[in-house]
Amino acid sequence: MGQLYPKNWSFYRVFLVSYLLSLLYKKSTSIFNVNMLKINNLHKSYTTEYNTLHVLKGLNLTIEQGEFVSIMGSSGSGKSTLLNILGILDDYDEGEYFLDDNLIKNLSQKNAAQYRNNLLGFVFQSFNLLPFKNAKENVALPLYYQKVDRKTRQNKALEYLDQVGLKEWAGHYPNQLSGGQQQRVAIARALISNPKLILADEPTGALDSGTSDEVMKIFKEVNAQGKTVIVVTHENEIAAQTDRIIRLKDGIIESNSKL
Ligand code: ADP
Ligand code: MG
Repeated sequence: MGQLYPKNWSFYRVFLVSYLLSLLYKKSTSIFNVNMLKINNLHKSYTTEYNTLHVLKGLNLTIEQGEFVSIMGSSGSGKSTLLNILGILDDYDEGEYFLDDNLIKNLSQKNAAQYRNNLLGFVFQSFNLLPFKNAKENVALPLYYQKVDRKTRQNKALEYLDQVGLKEWAGHYPNQLSGGQQQRVAIARALISNPKLILADEPTGALDSGTSDEVMKIFKEVNAQGKTVIVVTHENEIAAQTDRIIRLKDGIIESNSKL
């Protein structure tokens, strides 16, 4: 009888090893190439008493973990509308939105808040600091809502203020800080719950160009630490400091370029 199956074990070992290697390869590509978010055919309209305004008309977009992107477009082009949907602050009408592989659709208030608390950090044009709380208390606030104990809150707040270069200003109130400093406090507050994704809506819109660059430098550092950062802006100089520009026009993504 001829030998139908090779008896030599090393013959099979080749298959086993290559199979294991292929598994490992799939695993590593999934680690290094995970989508932070993905939207498919996203639509959003606002209906008022008089008319319906179709603001987002079928957007498709993927942003990977660790990217630093800007969203550009003229005033009224739907930048904030899109960012509010990405931040689960507002609903969309049609399409799909996946955040960190979770379908974000028709969530209860409670689930939406959970995703926001665990995954997202927000930065706004107008800083949105509480005027009657000092810098440290403002930064610590998200941890207060997460019922973290006072001592841990305070230590963490100082650590994050230090990261944005404002440890010495911990006891100052917002009206004792410059615009740039207030925005850095707001960034520290966004970072304190260790989100995966930072969403910033015109974060430099109220700042002069020197101060804007300081703020962008902090976003760059935050991104270098592995966080995904999305900055909405209408300023070319700001967008040019990110790795990819997404342009909104007439309700669709007009272009989507890596720099
Ligand atoms: P951008 O941030 O690019 O300036 P927005 O997303 O804020 O644009 O707004 C897009 C369009 O939708 C604008 O015409 C705006 O007036 C309109 N809009 C935004 N929010 C609402 C709302 N809550 N109700 C009705 N219309 C709205
Ligand atoms: Mg806006």
